Amino acid sequence: MVLPIADSRLVFPILHKQGIKKLHELSVTEEILKIAVRHGQKNGAKKIVRIYLAIGDLSDLIDEWVQRYFDYLAKDSIAQNAKLEIERVPITGLCDKCDKPFVVDKVKMDFHCPDCGEKGAELLKGREFTVKSIEIE
Ligand SMILES: [Zn+2]
Repeated sequence: MVLPIADSRLVFPILHKQGIKKLHELSVTEEILKIAVRHGQKNGAKKIVRIYLAIGDLSDLIDEWVQRYFDYLAKDSIAQNAKLEIERVPITGLCDKCDKPFVVDKVKMDFHCPDCGEKGAELLKGREFTVKSIEIE
């Protein structure tokens, strides 16, 4: 059974180059585990099999490390051996001038609007860190 999780957005200071604190896999993973276990227990889960996450591309978290920390932290909990399914959300800008959304290349980080060339774009997506749903038994 897959349980959607509504209020699962993690609030972290995400962080990009300009000297902002780096998100650490361990603290993020602790939050994921807490949310998953809380929702699992509330719904009478014996076991959490999978956890579905959405992570914005602005985050430099490494999927493999998130899973490794998770395996370590989840030991002896109902989420032991749960598999993390991570969906990456592309960085998306919204042009200030023509109001069109566009995907921003992660490496180039070029926020010029491909339509009108305007540089003033607002960050629409890319910072998210969400536990979307969990699969329980
Ligand atoms: Zn534009």
